[in-house]
Amino acid sequence: MLVVHSIKEVKDAVSAWRKEGLTVGLVPTMGYLHEGHASLVKKSSDENDRVVVSVFVNPIQFGPNEDYDKYPRDIESDSKLVEAAGGNLIFNPLNEEMYAPDFSSFVDTAGVTEGLCGAKRPGHFRGVCTVVTKLFNIVCPDRAYFGEKDAQQLAVIKRIVRDLNIPVEIRPCPIIREQDGLAKSSRNTYLNDRERKAALVLSRSLNKAHNAIEKGERNSDKLKAVITEEILNEPLAKIDYVEISDSLSLKPVDSIKKSVLVAIAVYIGKTRLIDNFTFEIK
Ligand code: AMP
Repeated sequence: MLVVHSIKEVKDAVSAWRKEGLTVGLVPTMGYLHEGHASLVKKSSDENDRVVVSVFVNPIQFGPNEDYDKYPRDIESDSKLVEAAGGNLIFNPLNEEMYAPDFSSFVDTAGVTEGLCGAKRPGHFRGVCTVVTKLFNIVCPDRAYFGEKDAQQLAVIKRIVRDLNIPVEIRPCPIIREQDGLAKSSRNTYLNDRERKAALVLSRSLNKAHNAIEKGERNSDKLKAVITEEILNEPLAKIDYVEISDSLSLKPVDSIKKSVLVAIAVYIGKTRLIDNFTFEIK
């Protein structure tokens, strides 16, 4: 397992594999990897001959008051995890390798970026679309792997791939959780003991809504109230959004028909966490 820092090294490795007729999977990440990321690498390794994992804290997807500077980084532990999960190459570029000083070209999409995190984090998805498009062009993978943990990101990437005819197959991967239900996230390391316990309110409130849908509740406002009430009972939690949307368009829905995304973003202290589930009415 190799860690490389330049685009040329990635291209050389991939073109050597291509000469052997091998298939290539890509797993884009920001590093500080955990079992959620490992599940993506494993799936990619099951489905492709070779796996590239990018580890890059992408500055252009962070807002001015967000956690870019303090985002956790540990490339040594990341390389061990990637190797154990079956990855073959880590691409860990410096900002200068990805962004020329006069960089001025961006990829963006409308509609699916308007609500949820897109509304709360202006410019975030433009940064994501741009870096992921660059990674697609650098690696030219057969398949790329994204977690359902970032449901809107997944929808956004599927949309640019479809709209711009990017020749890659997008493979969604289920949310990996801690035993007590908290969705694994590199940002969980920001939480102190009290906040870690309080953070369970995300999965707990979503479970309540899930149960309510299973029992037949179809009204979005009532379901959002179930979630909101649970979160308001947790003193360390502050709601950023609670939304129920069509899972393809991500437009808010008044009542549950077909497939919906129930998504929340909640501050636990200063740490913003997200979680979601998708429900399909059969
Ligand atoms: P990040 O490093 O947070 O940008 O995440 C990189 C990729 O890993 C994204 O596609 C995420 O959706 C995915 N991912 C992060 N956490 C999880 C998780 N708990 N379960 C599944 N996928 C995850």
